[in-house]
Amino acid sequence: MTQERTDQADDLYALPGSGRALPRYTLPEGPMPAREAYQLIRDELALDGNSRQNLATFCTTWSEPEIRALMTETLDKNMVDKDEYPQTAELESRCVHILAALWHAPHGEAAVGCSTTGSSEAAMLGGLALHRRWRARREAAGLPADRPNLVCGPVQVCWEKFARYFDIELRQMPLLPGRTTADPAQLARYCDERTIGVVATLGVTFTGAYEPVEDIAAALDALAARTGVDIPIHVDAASGGFVAPFLQPGLKWDFRVPRVKSVNCSGHKFGLAPLGVGWVVWRDAAELPAELVFHVDYLGGDMPTFALNFSRPGGEIVAQYYNLLRLGRAGYQAVQRACADTAVALADSLAALGPFRVLHDGRAGLPVVCWTLAPDHSTWTLYDLAERLRLRGWQVPTYPLPADRQETVVQRVVVRHGVSRDLVQLLLEDMRGALAELGRHPAATAEQRPAFHH
Ligand SMILES: *Cc1c(COP(=O)(O)O)cnc(C)c1O
Repeated sequence: MTQERTDQADDLYALPGSGRALPRYTLPEGPMPAREAYQLIRDELALDGNSRQNLATFCTTWSEPEIRALMTETLDKNMVDKDEYPQTAELESRCVHILAALWHAPHGEAAVGCSTTGSSEAAMLGGLALHRRWRARREAAGLPADRPNLVCGPVQVCWEKFARYFDIELRQMPLLPGRTTADPAQLARYCDERTIGVVATLGVTFTGAYEPVEDIAAALDALAARTGVDIPIHVDAASGGFVAPFLQPGLKWDFRVPRVKSVNCSGHKFGLAPLGVGWVVWRDAAELPAELVFHVDYLGGDMPTFALNFSRPGGEIVAQYYNLLRLGRAGYQAVQRACADTAVALADSLAALGPFRVLHDGRAGLPVVCWTLAPDHSTWTLYDLAERLRLRGWQVPTYPLPADRQETVVQRVVVRHGVSRDLVQLLLEDMRGALAELGRHPAATAEQRPAFHH
């Protein structure tokens, strides 16, 4: 009898914690059993969307079990503590050198770089180095080093953050009609002696197109020859850094272009590492001003650190090294090729499906498909379609292109590791159903649309 009652009371949903809503704003007075807390939190997390159906994100949503094992085993490893965890630090250093070589850094061993929490932190570090280098050049020439600016095309929000957080004027060149990337011919109008650098994006977030790094460099070469204003390039290769070397090996976007001084990349996007790792690499040590590197001795040893964060998990870096080792060049190529083929298949199916005009089909640039609605179409919008697809769990982001093409609303699907041909087929079937439904009940176009945040 007593035993029976205990067993009943032992059921997770018969325990006291289940008898009320979980605390939201104040610390509970006492503990609860681990098993109970775990299950109740898992139940709340079940309300989140299914990441595999999130076609908006560029980030890793599928990992091999070995990555999960390594992540668990490295839970205690603090990346900043290179003295306590020298082998984790060694794996970080190997990743930097492998990436520097992959991106054709001229002096292999001499390339410098570090891991970060993602491309955003990597962009801050790249931008800070550009600023310091520019300031040093100006001061050496006896010129004022105030009012610095950074020139770019349609950049990810991290560059707007960099500019605002560090007081740099951001000069974004507007998109010209018919273009989804910066036009190098515009550069001369936006650059001047106070330009600390030009950011070129390899894999524009909005469409997946690559900006023409070689043409941008040529335009800056011409500017330098004409005016003496010599402006370095930083490539934001958040996604492309792990795509172009495998799918477009002949494309010169990296350190093969002499004007490219630094590159950032997100390990947790097409690098296939779990969330929380990015990379920034400089062509050589001369491009990274020494005053940005701090030396700390309170962890034991004398450790150089260049990062916005201090303590940081080491697992993602270990997992990045695992991917590099496990896949090699041929493995990455196979993964990215499968993504690109699936993107092309999706793009080709769209034209037959509805009144869509494909802007980016994954044949060049990232394995991303981006489309807009045919101009004469008016009974429903892409926002209406997105809402319908959401009912089936699909997240297909819908947003206007950046200025000056903000009147063009697009939808975008990122075909990343794990977005299989079958999954895309299922999406297409749901799109077909949604289009039939919209045809029967044209949507009342809502005034206010939720904005999509990249
Ligand atoms: C995703 C992305 C970023 C930001 O990278 P995080 O790793 O998410 O911080 C920056 N630039 C581009 C082009 C991106 O696609």
